[in-house]
Amino acid sequence: MISSTFGKHDEKKQSVPHDLEILPVTLPPVVRIPCQRQDLPCEVLVEPGTRVLRGQPVAVTGGAAVHSPVSGRVKQIAVMDNCEGVPATTVVVENDGLGESVELSKITGINGMTAAEIYERLNAAGIVITFVDGTTFVYGLPSPGAGIHTLLLHGWVGALNGSGGEELPPWFHEVISGLRVLFTLYPEAGLVWHSHPSPTLKTLLSEFPKARTLPGAGNSPDMPVKWAVEEIAGRPLERGASPLAEEILPVTLQQARAIHRALFLGEPYMEQLILVEGNGVRRPGYYQVPLGTDLGEVLISAEVKETELAKVVVGCALNGTSVPRLDLPVGKGVFSILTFCEDEVFHYLDRACIHCGRCYQVCQVKLLPQRIAAYAARQNWEAAKVEGVLLCNECGRCSYVCPAGKPLLQLLRLAKKMLVS
Ligand code: SF4
Ligand code: SF4
Repeated sequence: MISSTFGKHDEKKQSVPHDLEILPVTLPPVVRIPCQRQDLPCEVLVEPGTRVLRGQPVAVTGGAAVHSPVSGRVKQIAVMDNCEGVPATTVVVENDGLGESVELSKITGINGMTAAEIYERLNAAGIVITFVDGTTFVYGLPSPGAGIHTLLLHGWVGALNGSGGEELPPWFHEVISGLRVLFTLYPEAGLVWHSHPSPTLKTLLSEFPKARTLPGAGNSPDMPVKWAVEEIAGRPLERGASPLAEEILPVTLQQARAIHRALFLGEPYMEQLILVEGNGVRRPGYYQVPLGTDLGEVLISAEVKETELAKVVVGCALNGTSVPRLDLPVGKGVFSILTFCEDEVFHYLDRACIHCGRCYQVCQVKLLPQRIAAYAARQNWEAAKVEGVLLCNECGRCSYVCPAGKPLLQLLRLAKKMLVS
């Protein structure tokens, strides 16, 4: 299943550019592993005092296991905030620094394996996929018979910014292999990516001749995944609706890589490949981060500019979540961390509306953001609903163009949250 180019060196190509290498983070003394997904029941398999090995399952949620990325002793099991501030069952493990691992069962190929056997192996390794719609939703892989018709690449697809002439790093070949595994599970599916493809991404996806870019991607470096799902489905999605119900499987490059490593190397999904970027760090790049590591520890490895850092966003720039503090743990939904300095942060002014109409003009779903925000400010949630707030895809354009500096997006988000909770 590994690409035919795997491991070969092409003299005509340049070496792997530095910004596509995977960088390590300093292993934390304690990991707080978020195990919960949405409101699914979470069965914890350990108790305080249990000694665990690296790669040992500590919980099962919705059929997919969650593993410890370090060896050590379980210190605590509690409900704690995940990195988006959502309470989640969390297993806290004190890292003993020994890195003692469970034995990994490798395989060299999948000839003779049924789709059900592959699926079972991926579930046991804790493979999940994510979908961002205001908050990050984490789903288990759909079963092989689920009728998936589209694999939608998302995440930091647009951030692969090499020139395209360079040699692809080995982890890209793992991505290609992981995508091929998904085609084995969902043979009817086509491959779509949702952003203007960088040259490096084009090189990677040339392995899939039938892959296509969504027409709506234009020159967008990173179209929000919800827009992409809506464009493929041909209709708006309500907040919280699963793309799997539309038979669309969103997958990030790092999840595809995790699928390869889980299936062939027997490696549980216990580390997250995270793009750290922005002017708040001196060493941006792709970091291999054990689950449960604090965001702050990741930023220290990326040489954070402590005195200049003003804002940290988890997820994409358009649709990510601004985190209130840095002692929050990395979970399987975190694929990028964006950092901003003080002079890059926009502060809302909330002056009186001058009725310029710009917020309406830029809204792609033709809402009246100013009117809905006014209802939300008065906590009139039903009126906001009648005005269509649930159709808002939280793109943030209305807030961006508002000359009065009104917090339109925040108010619309609040109304949506109140209506669906
Ligand atoms: S965030 Fe504003 S511009 Fe974007 S969909 Fe919602 S109301 Fe429209
Ligand atoms: S863009 Fe701002 S100032 Fe203009 S109508 Fe909308 S809320 Fe009012």
